[in-house]
Amino acid sequence: MRELVGRPYHELRARLGKDLSVRELVEAYLDAIEAFDGQVRAYLTVTADQAREQARALDDRLARKEPLPPLAGMPVAVKDNLCTRGVRTTCGSRILESFVPPYDATAVERLREAGAVVLGKTNLDEFAMGSSTENSGFFPTRNPWRLDHVPGGSSGGSAAAVAAGEALAALGSDTGGSIRQPACLCGVVGLKPTYGRVSRYGLVAFASSLDQIGPLALDVRDCALVLQAISGRDPRDSTSVEVPVPNFAASLEAGVRGLRVGVPTEFFGEGLQPEVRHAVLDAVRVLEGLGAVVEEVTLPTLEYALPTYYLIACAEASSNLARYDGVAYGYRSPRARDLYTLYARTRAEGFGPEVKRRIMLGTFALSAGYYEGFYKKAQQVRTLVRRDFDRCFEKVDVLATPTSPVAGFRLGERTTDPLQMYLADVYTIPVNLAGLPGISVPCGFVDGLPVGLQVVGRPFDEVTVLRVAYAYEQATDWHRHRCPLFRG
Ligand code: GLN
Repeated sequence: MRELVGRPYHELRARLGKDLSVRELVEAYLDAIEAFDGQVRAYLTVTADQAREQARALDDRLARKEPLPPLAGMPVAVKDNLCTRGVRTTCGSRILESFVPPYDATAVERLREAGAVVLGKTNLDEFAMGSSTENSGFFPTRNPWRLDHVPGGSSGGSAAAVAAGEALAALGSDTGGSIRQPACLCGVVGLKPTYGRVSRYGLVAFASSLDQIGPLALDVRDCALVLQAISGRDPRDSTSVEVPVPNFAASLEAGVRGLRVGVPTEFFGEGLQPEVRHAVLDAVRVLEGLGAVVEEVTLPTLEYALPTYYLIACAEASSNLARYDGVAYGYRSPRARDLYTLYARTRAEGFGPEVKRRIMLGTFALSAGYYEGFYKKAQQVRTLVRRDFDRCFEKVDVLATPTSPVAGFRLGERTTDPLQMYLADVYTIPVNLAGLPGISVPCGFVDGLPVGLQVVGRPFDEVTVLRVAYAYEQATDWHRHRCPLFRG
């Protein structure tokens, strides 16, 4: 197991069908889950039997010398807000504890078609609302680097699984930072694609104008491979965009010479941990050393992004979550006397405190008399945030910022203060408001906890985002560090 686990897929692939079978690779990962997940608790459901069956089918194809699909045998984990046919999909909520979808999300279906083997479903903050995975209705996940720290969230299970060698890659969802922030805190690579790049069909909706599915992986190349498999227009999601899907891995090695990298002043202000600032500015200097042209830019609306996001995200959530009423699916309170108490009790018993808080905030923001002042105003500010980014991208090709203002926090440290928790995403949220692609790559450590560099690009320019991240990664060795747990 130790020889195989923790090596990127692009290094292993050539061995498949030679000195390595899919079965061996999948068993190594199932062993790692067995060995580490008791401590990390990344998974809500492990689908070992299905994974073994899929591995057998792929080995048969190998034996017949059939051409291999691009991700053949890659053991992956899927965030539990993505529908999986015949496999429980809880969204980290008691209200969906025993919900079994009759279909696969498009992203999951495309991963399977590409030959990836799904190991199971990972833990998350309930309905993806949170930044630490402590809002899960089941249990918190732990950071594999330091088990008394959070893995970030809401895709904390996916990030922790990849960091702990319990999956080679994973799918997450990112509404305000939920792929990039946990990737950062767990020392792995995580990418949020442009809004519309990946189909959201089968992703349980949180805030539909912000939600986007993306990959978490050990390095940038693996991340590009997974993105390739899941990208592209899907007639079942009208917001997925009909634009060509480039070959993401093909241009990774193009380098950054002459590329203009913007460093937005506002992302290095108050609230940023000094050691994180250091690590990120060092990373910018590495890019400069590789020939990039670094230039300071400004994003004056940054300070309004967080409140704007929490108005829009909560408003959309309050509408999206109206469907959990005990009628069509999910939990139904046994204590209901009539239709009204069926709704009220089901929701009171089924949802956790953070979800209830957001439904109330969102309902308030949308209600008569407040709509103009809150929801409409937030939409207007959202436009201003996007214009700020547009202005930056007239001058530079990408932006480089910290992913998270701090290198992690302890379990329990922020659970009693929602505003502190919301601040965890202050640098990732503006990117969702503007619908842009963003990646987090490891760029150092503070007290044994990983730090991440965020690279943000123009709409549908994942190619440049990946290229910059790859150039940085290849010039450093942060992505080769493995967590202590995993080294045994
Ligand atoms: N932490 C942010 C929130 O709680 C973002 C979550 C996400 O991206 N799903 O809303």
